[in-house]
This record gives sequence, structure tokens and C-alpha cells, in this order.
Amino acid sequence: MEAVYEGRLKPYFPTGPVPSLSAGAKHQYRQQIIAGLKARDAVLIAHYYVDAELQQLAEETGGFVGDSLEMARFGMRHSAQTLVVLGVKFMGETAKILSPHKRVLMPDLGATCSLDISCDALEFEAFCKAHPEREVVVYVNTSARVKALADWVVTSSIALDLVNHLADQGKKILWAPDKYLGHYLQTQTGADMLLWQGSCIVHEEFKSKAIFDLKAQYPKAAILVHPESPEEVIDLADCVGSTSQLLKASQSLPHQTLIVATDQGIFYKMQALSPHKTFISAPTTGVGATCRSCARCPWMAMNTLQNVCQALEHLSPEVTVPEAIAKSALHALEKMVKFNLNNLNNLNK
Ligand code: 13P
Ligand code: SF4
Repeated sequence: MEAVYEGRLKPYFPTGPVPSLSAGAKHQYRQQIIAGLKARDAVLIAHYYVDAELQQLAEETGGFVGDSLEMARFGMRHSAQTLVVLGVKFMGETAKILSPHKRVLMPDLGATCSLDISCDALEFEAFCKAHPEREVVVYVNTSARVKALADWVVTSSIALDLVNHLADQGKKILWAPDKYLGHYLQTQTGADMLLWQGSCIVHEEFKSKAIFDLKAQYPKAAILVHPESPEEVIDLADCVGSTSQLLKASQSLPHQTLIVATDQGIFYKMQALSPHKTFISAPTTGVGATCRSCARCPWMAMNTLQNVCQALEHLSPEVTVPEAIAKSALHALEKMVKFNLNNLNNLNK
């Protein structure tokens, strides 16, 4: 489906809610998936934003649930020859580039991301060519073609450390595509950054005024914010971080109530790890307004028990990345998965 987003490309929204399954049907799909994983030498790799039942199944079957960096690392290191990525397309492409000899399946290849959509590879190439003096640092939420143009690929869990490192070396940075995350990195590090103007439709909707009012109702609550959110929302945060960093904070902070500005899928894990705490979704609307995503990524929601089952049965849809693009994107992705604070100087360009 073609659509327009901020004058160019519009996000694809599934046409309606996924019909809910009876307990019996869910049980049957789960059993088929478990059998399919064995038969196909396959493993489930899920993001925190997919439905709780898929996260649960990934864990129960020896698979994995994590943030986008941890998913990439897990897929590369696991011995299974088929990786079933439950998330969005850039996650499947990343897994395929890092493990070219493995089969990578996704339940629905239409599950994209508004950041990926906002960054057209040809336009981005022209942007890079216009600023050759800058180090190109690209968020992992992009297409393989965009990653192929990058010096560095980062996730939200390592972006701050890498940008700090480059700023210390006096490097000028060209950043894409998330303007909010880019602005956050700029303010935290003082780096000279030129920003692409993309955004996440989920995080962009969190409203600082409504969060401020909610905090007045729960004065003892801590506020956790993903850095894809607008600056004025980040300014209210007790903790800013990637999904796994927010999850850790939800456990370690002493607060019993937490207001969380990220996709609601993460509540499954937060609640499971801290059953006695109260989690509240940060508001996405002003009074009387309507939201487009309502703190639920429409693309993450395209992963279902049914289509996971079908993907395993038919070994399709399979993620493919043209060889030349995969080759160009590989080096920056390898640096991303090897990244840690102590080896920054060893990550060759
Ligand atoms: P994380 O790397 O923090 O899991 O973020 C991925 C994402 O798409 C957030 O919207
Ligand atoms: Fe992309 Fe936002 Fe969905 Fe994450 S939540 S996959 S950034 S649209």
C-alpha cells in the first residue's frame, strides 16, 4: 500500500484490529509454532514491542526478547540456521546482513518503521555527498541501503557513547534519521551534528503537558522516556534510554509507580520483572484530541501467532538483502554489534 507521510510517505496502518483468537486457537497455534521451530532448526527473536504472547513464546522456546542491539547480537551468535525475527523490517535486514548464510524469516515484510520510511536512500545519499566533511552516523531504524552509506550504525543504547567519542575526537557528524534522538545526542554531548528530519510516529505523540499533569496526580512516580520522544518530554524524564535501559531502570529505581513514554508492549516485561510496581502509559494526547498510534507501534502489532505459524510452515516471507548492499552495510553493522565503551579505539573505520 502506497501512502504519503508528511508530504511524501505516509505510514501504513493495518486496516483494522487483528481479530482476537479463542484460547483453543491460541493453544493450537502455539503448539504448531513450537513444532515448526524444531522442524526448521529455527529460533524466535522478539522485540519488547511485539505482543506479550509472542514475547512469552520466544522466551519459552529458547529464543530471545530484547532491544534492537541485543536482537542483532543474539541472531548472529545463535546456532539455529533459521532466525524468525518478530519486530520490524530493519531488524530482519540487520539479522540477514550479519548472518548471510542463515535463513531469516519475518511474519510480515510490510512491518516497517516511520523512521525507515522517512529516510529515502537516494535523498540521503545526496545529503551525505553535500557534506563530505562529516562522519555519517545512522540509527539502526533505517533500510539496508541507508546503512550502506554509513560510517557508523548505532542503536539508542549506544548512540550517546559513540557520539561522545566522536565529539571528543573533534569529528563533525551527519545524523539520520530521528530528529529528536539527534537533538538529544547533540544537547548531551555538545557534538557538531547536522540532523535529518525524521521522527517516530509513536514517540512523537507523547505530550509533555499531559505527562506533567499526570505527574501531579502521582507525585512519587518516576518518568521513563525513550529518546525518540520530543525534547520537552525528555526534559521531564528521570531516566532516558533504550528499551532495555528503561527496563533496567524500572527494576532498579526505588519508585513504586512509573510513567512510561514508549510503546506499551514493554509493559509485559516491566510488570513481569516488578510485579508489585504500577506502570502507567504516558499520555499521547491533549484533552479531547485523538492519537494516531496511541503508544502502540502499528508495525510491531503486525506480528501475530497466525503469521508466525505460517512463516514457519511455508518458510516465507524470507528477508533478502541485495549482496552489494549487504556488503557495504556489513562493516558498520559489525562495529555496532562489537561496540562497547572499552574497545572504541579499536573499532576501525
Ligand atoms: P530500542 O533499540 O531501544 O529497542 O528501540 C527500537 C525502536 O524501534 C524504538 O522505537
Ligand atoms: Fe519505528 Fe517508532 Fe515503531 Fe520503533 S516504535 S519501530 S521507531 S515506528
